[in-house]
Amino acid sequence: MTMTSSTGGSRPLGPYGEYREHIRDLFASCDDVLRQIRRALYGGHPSRQYVAEKAQALRDAAAGLLRGCHDVEGCLRQCGQDVTEDWDGEPYVTECRLEAGHRGPHLAGLPASPMREATDAGRDLARAALALSDHIDWLAHRGCRLPDADDMAGLAKGLGEVGCALTGASRALECLGAVPWGPGGSAEEDRP
Ligand SMILES: [Zn+2]
Repeated sequence: MTMTSSTGGSRPLGPYGEYREHIRDLFASCDDVLRQIRRALYGGHPSRQYVAEKAQALRDAAAGLLRGCHDVEGCLRQCGQDVTEDWDGEPYVTECRLEAGHRGPHLAGLPASPMREATDAGRDLARAALALSDHIDWLAHRGCRLPDADDMAGLAKGLGEVGCALTGASRALECLGAVPWGPGGSAEEDRP
């Protein structure tokens, strides 16, 4: 997701600040799909295939809204003040990524925190597992009792992706467990 914030100034009021439109857009996507399902179901001759596809689209849109909520939460917790960096002699203005209200100087260009890595790894795992589940659902929906060689290859690939994502999530959680806790319960707060 790409989000920009108004750096250096006071944030707009309201629980979502400058991300209000972003959240509204994500909600509008859910609303659109829901309307399409309602139209199909109450239109007289609904196509089961169409409704199933739209139900999946609704789930994806709702997942996008949930992800957006979590991302906004993370962005609003950041300091966000302008930081000017030196890029090969050229000034480059970016945002401070430390927690809002942090002590010490502003900093940008921090590597992703272990929590961020774990969040991404968890999302990758969920995405891979859902894709595999959808694939099997789709085969069953098609009336398939015994998958052919191509189907099996596709399922094996999906299963391999789940395994890969699971390995990544396990590593990310191990790293998370190895991070020393600061007095405030967050290693991030101990940064200067
Ligand atoms: Zn800062």
